[in-house]
Amino acid sequence: MSGHTDMVLVDENGMRIDGRTAEQHRPFKVEAGVLNNADGSAYVEIGKNKVLAAVYGPRECHPRHLQDPTKAIVQCKYNMQSFSVSDRKRPGPDRRSIEISKIISEALEKVVLTELYPRASIDVYIEILQANAGTRCAGLTAASVALADAGIPMRDIVPAIAAGKADGHVLLDLNKEEDNYGQADVPIAIIPSTDEIVLLQMDGNMTREEFDYGIKMAVAGCHELHELQKDALKRRYSKKAQEGSE
Ligand code: UDP
Repeated sequence: MSGHTDMVLVDENGMRIDGRTAEQHRPFKVEAGVLNNADGSAYVEIGKNKVLAAVYGPRECHPRHLQDPTKAIVQCKYNMQSFSVSDRKRPGPDRRSIEISKIISEALEKVVLTELYPRASIDVYIEILQANAGTRCAGLTAASVALADAGIPMRDIVPAIAAGKADGHVLLDLNKEEDNYGQADVPIAIIPSTDEIVLLQMDGNMTREEFDYGIKMAVAGCHELHELQKDALKRRYSKKAQEGSE
């Protein structure tokens, strides 16, 4: 998010470097139930981002001092693989991955019926296989499908996407160049049934009007992504039902 570049990010016709208009998101792909040995799993692509999520639980929470006698806790581990970015990333947790794990856990705790499982932990693992800006959104989108795939009771499934600003234009779903050289990045996640926002971060600067417009675009993008999340779960369960009847 430097805001300074000679690169033209939005041309005189309003076209972005990957051929999108300001309000267009990158292609989405959502699959549920992609791993055999997790309780639930999902695979998501948002453009060139490729993300896997796996869920275990609810199970007894360890270490025990983290247990909450009134509800389950959601423990998310976001991990960016070394090979997911162009400059090899040093393996292991860093400040950024700890922050992203925390905000994703908090967003998921807003939809999971944690009160049904006192003292338990619901463990969510997010692996970034390929990154191109927007991995926290792709990770949260995948994690909520994986939770539903694990059969964990939830109020809704959470989709997430970023809005932002580059070359003075408010844009939906920033790619890596727009994220690196643009003026603002605002990832959001919503509960689609109520439009409540469960994740909102902001890097950079926008006017109040630009912010409102960006949020409106991102909420619309979230609803599109939500349809694909539901379709992925329907495909998963119709396949299971078919296997069961054979
Ligand atoms: N990135 C990278 N190396 C890192 C961290 C990030 O190359 O160690 C890239 C990656 O493409 C990522 C983008 O920078 O998607 C933007 O990172 P940010 O922290 O804004 O999070 P994200 O947009 O992925 O949620």
